[in-house]
Amino acid sequence: MHHTIEIKYMDEHKLELFTRETAEEANLNFLPKQFEDYLGQRALKEKLNVYTQAARMRNEPLDHLLLFGPPGLGKTTLSHIMAQVLQVNIKTCSGPMLERTGDLVAILSSLESRDILFIDEIHRLPIQVEEVLYSAMEQFTIDVIIGQGAGAKSITIPVNPFTLIGATTKTGSISAPLRSRFGIIERLDYYTDEELAAIVQQNAQFLKLSLSDYAALLIAKCSRGTPRIAKKIVRRVRDFVQVHNQNIANDKLVQDALSFMGIDQEGLSYIDNQLLRAIVEHFNGGPVGLETLAALTGEDKETIEQVHEPFLIRKGYLEKTARGRQIPYKILPYLKSKFCGQQMLSSS
Ligand code: ADP
Repeated sequence: MHHTIEIKYMDEHKLELFTRETAEEANLNFLPKQFEDYLGQRALKEKLNVYTQAARMRNEPLDHLLLFGPPGLGKTTLSHIMAQVLQVNIKTCSGPMLERTGDLVAILSSLESRDILFIDEIHRLPIQVEEVLYSAMEQFTIDVIIGQGAGAKSITIPVNPFTLIGATTKTGSISAPLRSRFGIIERLDYYTDEELAAIVQQNAQFLKLSLSDYAALLIAKCSRGTPRIAKKIVRRVRDFVQVHNQNIANDKLVQDALSFMGIDQEGLSYIDNQLLRAIVEHFNGGPVGLETLAALTGEDKETIEQVHEPFLIRKGYLEKTARGRQIPYKILPYLKSKFCGQQMLSSS
């Protein structure tokens, strides 16, 4: 099926070229540039390594790739590594950024042969923009309308063969027609504590911060399975160590830094604990609705649902049932004793 596009938007695109090297220099932010530096996700890394090597040997574009997974797990980073292996350019943008078909046409026509186009949050592409992608992905062509009124005519423009990498956090939100056009569909899982500890050490070394393996594991356990969070904590620990005038982040100092950030020994944040405490103290373990939890803790519903709940559920502190959120039966006595004697919620 062909789609028509008004060409007048062609020069209004909002393409952001991602200059990662500049970011790395300015923020002292370590960014893995090859598969060896990308720690964890072994099975996925091996597969993608084979696919990229093969595409490179054949001098062909890599098949279109859809990456599923929660934010901060390394989808963007992987795409940059693949571009590096393929020795091609990568252009990055996000679904909501591509408001009009012309925005996408402008980007597609700027791609060189075998380049990668990375679209983050691809589930948020407007439908008319998504439809332009279909023929671009399948036949490497796009249709545009030139002129107006009776004189308007449709022409088909070829684009260079390219690879689309779509990233999304929501498995269910990708439309079936879009999904079916991806040759490779992979998902990223949360990292283990050991994998995260290695990422913590990798970043600590980059920042010239000396950490024991025990301290790295402590930070890893507080990082919710997510490299982006691990990296943020390392930077905050570094700040803490610096103002406490120490060169080495000994284990006690790391522990103090984590408490200073409001993270407890189980890796739970202040809000995580507030949520659990509200269910234990006010509802004897639940079930309780999301709205009530939001009102009791002062957090908005989306943050509870997207940031706090997935982690609490994964750690076995919470379960979702048809009647609401509840504390699993087995863990309730433990949480009761944890919160017993502590101050009640201020809103109670
Ligand atoms: P996503 O695109 O999934 O939201 P990013 O690719 O932006 O995640 O990764 C978030 C941060 O974590 C980046 O700074 C990246 O360098 C780092 N990171 C992610 N995965 C890894 C990994 N496997 N090894 C080392 N660093 C990683």
